[in-house]
Amino acid sequence: MEEAIQAQFDQAKHIVFLTGAGVSTASGIPDFRSANGLYTKDKNAEYYLSHRYFVSDPAGFYQFCKDNLYFPDAKPNVIHQKQAALTQQGRATVITQNIDGLYEKAGTKHLVNFHGTLERVYCEQCHQTVPVSDYLKSRLHASDGGNLRPDIVLYDEAIPEDAIQQSLAALSAADLVVIVGTSLKVYPFAGLVQYANPAAKLIAVNQEPLALPAGATMVTGDAVQFFDQLQVD
Ligand code: NAD
Repeated sequence: MEEAIQAQFDQAKHIVFLTGAGVSTASGIPDFRSANGLYTKDKNAEYYLSHRYFVSDPAGFYQFCKDNLYFPDAKPNVIHQKQAALTQQGRATVITQNIDGLYEKAGTKHLVNFHGTLERVYCEQCHQTVPVSDYLKSRLHASDGGNLRPDIVLYDEAIPEDAIQQSLAALSAADLVVIVGTSLKVYPFAGLVQYANPAAKLIAVNQEPLALPAGATMVTGDAVQFFDQLQVD
């Protein structure tokens, strides 16, 4: 860890983490676009995660979610834990594209689930929520036979308005923005960085280099190593 980077964290009062699937690969959840990623293995993954597909083939959608999205034994890693610690100190907000629930398990206090969460499941017919364990046993709501679905943002669905508002509020107050483990290919998430306070410093930590605005610091490498070394107290 470069001293200058540690100093930026030490001095920051309003850190915003913008994160993606690369935060959870060390917890055993594959990302989408790396060599082992879902999109690399299955070019139709974007279609299988659309509302169009959910409506046209509810059984196929259910099987795809169960086989590829749910990892009930996954545990938070040092990246989630150090970011959670900074939120508990009241110095950070996490805005994540991840839907895996690991930030909650790590005790993250100020968290925006930009693409929703797999941990909330509801019936599309009556909107009642059911436990995830029920969903993993059956795709149909026991009380009315409606199709159950996780509360995640599918490819042809809009980002919830409150997630956008909370993200913009955190970014406009930020003095340090840290992008971690995302290819920045999914919009509108990838455009959020433009709404950061112009005075905020920008750091990105990612296995592959990202195209960043001038003046930003790109740390190319494993985010586990970066957060292992980062002092947060
Ligand atoms: P992505 O697969 O497009 O990109 C992941 C990025 O993380 C890649 O650039 C990769 O090089 C990097 N990366 C992987 N492991 C890393 C590590 N240990 N250290 C540093 N960098 C690492 O993922 P995305 O940008 O988040 O977009 C994918 C979309 O899919 C999102 O919308 C998200 O909702 C969803 N998704 C979520 C999960 C999850 O919840 N864990 C997993 C897969 C996909």
